[in-house]
Amino acid sequence: MRAIRSANTLPELVVRRHLHAQGYRFRVNVSSLPGKPDIVLRKHNAIVMVHGCFWHSHSCSLAGELPRSNMQYWKPKLERTRQRDEESKKELLALGWRVLTVWECALVEGNGERREESLMSVSDWLLSKSKQGEIEYRASDTAVGSRR
Ligand SMILES: [Zn+2]
Repeated sequence: MRAIRSANTLPELVVRRHLHAQGYRFRVNVSSLPGKPDIVLRKHNAIVMVHGCFWHSHSCSLAGELPRSNMQYWKPKLERTRQRDEESKKELLALGWRVLTVWECALVEGNGERREESLMSVSDWLLSKSKQGEIEYRASDTAVGSRR
């Protein structure tokens, strides 16, 4: 699992580039915090996690479209990842951090303004007082019957 999950997945870079262009300063892959958060903005007391939809078991059409072969093998691994995500988030919130989860599907390019809107939502959330948030795209969920 660790070998397959790249530390610098593309959706994460999209978010990082956006934040950097907006003047935000942050640290990445902070191993001293629970779950080794992707993006840590100390000034805003905020953590941004960018999740790939398949690996983190998002209930969206993007995760459903990915190859389903060998699921007997992957299912327990995906389940563990999902549990780890939840535990890390709980711990971070308990430590007083604000936690935003951004899903890969919200960052997919080439569908109108979806990516731009999502990135602006990230900025809006950072400036808000919200303790936790989630940015996702699920409009085409009902297109195919491929839900888990
Ligand atoms: Zn998704």
